[in-house]
Amino acid sequence: MTDEFTTEIYYDENADVSHIEDKTVAVLGYGSQGHAHALNLSDSGVDVLVGLRKSSSSRGAAEDEGLTVTTPAEAAAEADVVMLLVPDTVQPAVYDDIRDGLDAGDTLMFAHGFNIHYGQIEPPEDVDVSMVAPKSPGHLVRRNYEKGEGTPGLLAVYQDTTGEVKQEGLAYAKAIGCTRAGVIETTFREEVETDLFGEQAVLCGGVTEMVKTGFETLVDAGYSPEMAYFECLNELKLIVDLMYEGGHMEMWNSVSDTAEYGGLTRGEEVIDREGMEEILEGVQNGEFAREWISENQAHRPSYKQYRQAEQDHQIEAVGSRLRELFAWEAE
Ligand code: NAD
Ligand code: MG
Repeated sequence: MTDEFTTEIYYDENADVSHIEDKTVAVLGYGSQGHAHALNLSDSGVDVLVGLRKSSSSRGAAEDEGLTVTTPAEAAAEADVVMLLVPDTVQPAVYDDIRDGLDAGDTLMFAHGFNIHYGQIEPPEDVDVSMVAPKSPGHLVRRNYEKGEGTPGLLAVYQDTTGEVKQEGLAYAKAIGCTRAGVIETTFREEVETDLFGEQAVLCGGVTEMVKTGFETLVDAGYSPEMAYFECLNELKLIVDLMYEGGHMEMWNSVSDTAEYGGLTRGEEVIDREGMEEILEGVQNGEFAREWISENQAHRPSYKQYRQAEQDHQIEAVGSRLRELFAWEAE
């Protein structure tokens, strides 16, 4: 056992914005991440061009902030650094529009490695490729920056033709506020595979499935849906907040000894480790990526079905009624 970090963590003192200050950065997309990157870069003194489709509804919002807006192709052609912040499923099509604007020595940047790692975008060999990925939604990246605080982030290099891509990535991370909080160095592969595994097995898939199955087990046994909702969904936040604040021990120390003993002895029974390993395998061997790419090509027939079933689940109706009746969410 060691308490040393196995990866590098970079802070403000390890990064120098001058590596990006004399460059023009094209931020393509103005959604969650796009607006935050564009505004933070611009406030940090970096020359920013926002690239949006002619029909984009975000044009007005970006222009109101004083940003220069043009098309993705024009922005990329003019820029030295191109950050792709359109949805991952749309990136290959946008890349086709901008590839001619990538000159030797330019940098193509990402905030998630899916399209590079699974070969959906294959950049020219004379272009640098890197990733700066804030570990939180864009509105927090912007809000933290404005408060003088930071958002933790990841830095990865996929292709370095100039020998400068890492310094440039760190400069970018500093300009959007990430090095104020800490930037962890990783690889495209590690970022993608841990991200997909986490969202499928633990965060999005694992947690919702556990909540739903717990709810159904109680309701099927004749307990009231309202009790089941509070027990299996509402209280989850209290437990997760404790884990977030001080790890598992803070949570165990805060609940009753009965809850602690029951949890420690029974928790393992609900977890299917082989199932988790299979999920990881599907991420590593590209099976999930292939499935998701063809699902999109077919206009998402299964996605729509799964979504509808989730919407129709009893826990949704019970929850929305209870959230209206109780005012605990009001600030
Ligand atoms: P988003 O869905 O919020 O925004 C996408 C923007 O792209 C839209 O607002 C629009 O300006 C543009 N766009 C949408 N459809 C388009 C189309 N068909 N053609 C051209 N432009 C189009 O996306 P996001 O969540 O900001 O994600 C951008 C990237 O950041 C992704 O790679 C994502 O994985 C990554 N990322 C997101 C988060 C997050 O919390 N949202 C966190 C880290 C990394
Ligand atoms: Mg260019």
